[in-house]
This record gives sequence, structure tokens and C-alpha cells, in this order.
Amino acid sequence: MSAETFEFQVEARQLLQMMIHSIYSNKDVFLRELLSNASDALDKLRLEALRDDSLGADTSDLHIAIEADREARTLTVRDNGIGMSRDEVVHLIGTIAKSGTAAFLEEMQRAGDTAAGEKLIGQFGVGFYSSFMVADEVTLLTRRAGEPHGTRWSSSGEGTYTVETVDDAPQGTSIELKLKPADAEDQLHDYTQSWKIREIVKRYSDFITWPIRMAEPKPAGGADGADGGDGEEGAGSGEPQTLNSMKALWARPRDEVGDAEYHELYKHISHDWVDPLETIRLQAEGTFEYQALLFIPSHAPQDLFMQGYKRGVQLYVKRVFIMDDCEELMPSYLRFVKGVVDAQDLSLNVSREILQQDRQIQLMHRRLAKKVLSTVKEMMTAAPDRYATFWREFGRVLKEGLLGDPENRDAILAASTFATTHDKDRPTTLADYVARMKEGQEHIYYLTGESRQAVENSPHMEAFRAKGIEVLLLTDPVDEVWVDVVPGFDGKQLRSVAKGEVDLAGSGEDAEQAAGEREKQQEEYAGLLGWMTEHLGDTVKEVRLSSRLTVSAACIVSDADAITPALENIYRAMGQ
Ligand code: ADP
Ligand code: MG
Repeated sequence: MSAETFEFQVEARQLLQMMIHSIYSNKDVFLRELLSNASDALDKLRLEALRDDSLGADTSDLHIAIEADREARTLTVRDNGIGMSRDEVVHLIGTIAKSGTAAFLEEMQRAGDTAAGEKLIGQFGVGFYSSFMVADEVTLLTRRAGEPHGTRWSSSGEGTYTVETVDDAPQGTSIELKLKPADAEDQLHDYTQSWKIREIVKRYSDFITWPIRMAEPKPAGGADGADGGDGEEGAGSGEPQTLNSMKALWARPRDEVGDAEYHELYKHISHDWVDPLETIRLQAEGTFEYQALLFIPSHAPQDLFMQGYKRGVQLYVKRVFIMDDCEELMPSYLRFVKGVVDAQDLSLNVSREILQQDRQIQLMHRRLAKKVLSTVKEMMTAAPDRYATFWREFGRVLKEGLLGDPENRDAILAASTFATTHDKDRPTTLADYVARMKEGQEHIYYLTGESRQAVENSPHMEAFRAKGIEVLLLTDPVDEVWVDVVPGFDGKQLRSVAKGEVDLAGSGEDAEQAAGEREKQQEEYAGLLGWMTEHLGDTVKEVRLSSRLTVSAACIVSDADAITPALENIYRAMGQ
């Protein structure tokens, strides 16, 4: 059958260009990406075979094989996993379905070929396409389990690729890279050297639970073959060896596993290229036994606030991968958390419907959420810099929990910080705010708005500034909503400085005097106020004298229980 030529989707083409002229310095990660995909494909096959007896796939020796040919300068990664149909090849490999790609590419354009650009690529993660950092040409041969024909895909990464149906493809996927010419000086990046391959597998993919095997590479012709001479056993011949230890990290004792290993597992499951901010381990014993290994990323993904964002952790049952994105185990406001939960007592056939009703799952969900919140709380004091990163990246999401998870409201508030007039550069906890409250101050004051500047310059702030009373500056959209739901903190009510009467006079003689003064003024200005109320008509409810302003002539306030202008905007945006 003849090969058909296709064009890459625009976004895919742009990504490939970035890979070909790679500004990403750590090229070794291409192998990690290929092994990660192969491992996923094996997981999927095992699961599908488990659920469908009629699949007719051979699952007797699931594994990954690496072959290097020094003469031909090729490197092949082969798996006998689920494989891909022809349509899947075109859609999965020819297009980028990842949400947030457009935004990422735009940012890349702005960053250019700089360190910032490299950082962006790292945060975005570029799976299969990273092969083009090291290869001139990539050929993928695949056959989906249960299907008769295979597909060959081939490309040099420059604009087009070819696809061809083939009769004789083994089940699974093999990816052959035609490596770029080796730089004679650059032994470090010669991916046909077996020591190099071993090193990469050990460093990045040791935890993969499927065997990664390699036969010693064919030596390059002539005397050159001897330069792999770092004491490798039986070069060029011999049985394939398994390079990885294949142990599930979450099942190994804490003190046996290094941080770097945890971080590589994180990268495998999250498709992130950057280390996580925090690793969280949890071992539950007793009647319902499970192990969890959770990660807080160090940056928010592009699509965290987009519809269709895939949240949740991976669910395993007794070491067998069951599903990605298990939403039932993590509340929506912790949707940035990645990780693995391995339960001992669930059925391998567990379905979404069962998960939604299972009481044990609900208990796990609660326990995991509490564990994440307490970890964040600890981070505040134990690692203030990391906490600051956490809050910058995920604070907005976490605060959604103040609405959705009343049970954990106090834990969320305790793990939150807020911009404040007290210190422009350092957000405060509510506990610290309360500790600084002035004699006679009863409430926690805040002002919501669209930006820090808008809030700081608001006329509502004047009296508070004059009296030196601290005000929290809340500028995330979600702030508009939770402040109305959360009754308070530590027995103190939250009060907007923009709503209703705010009594700043306190008590005692001063207050009485001030009240008397105000009454006198109110009488004096009665005529004017009446006239204004009448002329402003429907647009306002009442015009009154205010003690809250020092510089501005007038400001608009809401009733104490009315919605704020910004909240009106949110509701309007939601179409209500
Ligand atoms: P990601 O792994 O983040 O989805 P990749 O670019 O690494 O992105 O891979 C794109 C998709 O191609 C995968 O999601 C998978 O569906 C498919 N794929 C890649 N490699 C394999 C493989 N070895 N076997 C089966 N499918 C694969
Ligand atoms: Mg991948």
C-alpha cells in the first residue's frame, strides 16, 4: 500500500520547530518520554485485556525493549502494549490536543530563544516530539491490539509526515530514531552507547513497573567497536538485560527512596518536566489498606481554569493501573494535585459508577484532602519560600474550597494568606491579622476588587488608612464569593469596607462626640441629601453623609447584605 502524506497541524508544526532547533539543554529526556509512553501503552493493554476477554491480545510477556545500532546510528524503543490504529496515529501524533497549547506558543514567541523559553518548554512538557531534539527522522510502526493491520508513520519533523498501512506489524509500537550525526567530541550525547542508555534509564525511568530490556548494541564497524570498553559484559552478543528495578515507589519504605526518584515518578504521571514542589506520602493500614504518593507541582498548568481540565490522581489496585484522572479521590479545589493511590481491597473491575458510591472511596477522598491541606499548612512555617510559590500558583484554586468544602473550611483558611495594607510585599495569615488588630477593633476588614491598584486607591480605604486599620486586599474573582459564605475566623467576622455602615469610631467619649457631630451635620445637609436621593432616583437606594472619606467627595457603597459590583460581574459572566 502506498504512503499518504499529511501536514502537521499548525501548533504541532510550531512545537516541532522548537524541538528541531532545540533550546532545551537536557536532551536526554527524549528517552524518558518514549519510555513513559511505552509504559502507559502497556498499562492500557493489561487493563483492556482484563476487561475484554475477546481482545485476543498476547499479554504473556509485556515489556519494553531498547535497541541501539552504532553503525546505522539508530535507536529503537519497542513495546508490545496497546498500540495505535491508523486514525489514532494521525490524531495522537499529528496533532496536539493538549489544552493551553495556543497560550503556551504565544508565550514562547514572546520569550524567544532564552532561558525563559527553556523554562516554558519545561513547564509545558513536550512528549513524543522531544525525539526530534536528537533525531533527523523518526519512524513509528504500530499495531493496535486486536486489529489485523499495522501503521507506519514517518517524519523528519519538517512540516509533513507520511502514513502507510502495513500488513506485518507486531502488536504494540516501535519507534525508531535516526540519530543526528554524532559530534566526535561529544561522547556524552551519543545515544547509541549502552552506558548512556543505562544511565538514562536508571536516572529517569527506574520505577517503571514493566521490564525495560536491552541487548548490548551492535558495535560500529572496525576497531571503533572497542570504545564502548567500560567493562560491559559480552558487548554485541548476550541475552537482553533488564535495566530498571521495576519497584512501585509508593510501596517502598520512605528511607529507601531518594527525592530524585520521587520526582521522576511525578514527571511520568504528570507529563511535567519540572520537579514538584512537594511530595506527600500516606500509608493507610487496617481494614481498608492503601498507599498514596501525592505531588504538589511547582507551577500551575496552562489549563487549570479551563473547561475540560483533567483532574484527579491515578488509581491502582494492588499495583495494577486502573485509571488516570480519578476525580473521586480529590476535591476540585485540589485539582492541581497529582499522584498515585494504590488500594489493596478494590476490585480490578472497579468502575466510575462504583467509585462514586463507594464509602471507602469517600473516606479516602477526605483523608487525602486533609493530608494535602495539613502539608500546605506545614509548608508555611517549614519552607516559607516554597509556600510563597505554592500560594502564587494555586492560592486562587485553593480558595474555591472555602465555598465547596465547609468541613475543611478552617483548614483551608489556616493554609491561606492574603495581601494586606500592613505589609505591601508580604501576604498575611488571618491569625497574624487578628493578632495585630487594634484595641476595640471587632472585625476583620477587607476590600475586594479587580486589581491591587484599584483596591488600594479606592475611596473606601481612606478612613481606614487615616486610622491605621489594616485591610485585606482581595483581588481574585473567587474572593468575591467566599467572603459572603465564610462566617469569620477565630470568632471575628469578615467585614467589607465597602459595605453599609462601618463604625470606625469605636466607643467611649470620642465616639459619643463623633455621633453627636454626625447628627448635627445630617440635619444641616438634610436638604441636599434629599435632593440628591430624589435626582439619582433608581440608581441609588439612599444618599447619606459619611465618616469614611478623608479626601474623596463621595463614594458608592452597597448594603451590608447586597452583592458587590464585582460579584455582579461574575454572575453576569455566568449568564445569571
Ligand atoms: P502524552 O504522553 O503527554 O499524551 P505524547 O506526545 O508523549 O503526549 O504522546 C501522545 C500520544 O500518543 C499519547 O497520549 C498516546 O496516546 C500516543 N502514544 C505515544 N506513544 C505511544 C505508544 N508507545 N503506544 C501507544 N500509544 C502511544
Ligand atoms: Mg508522553
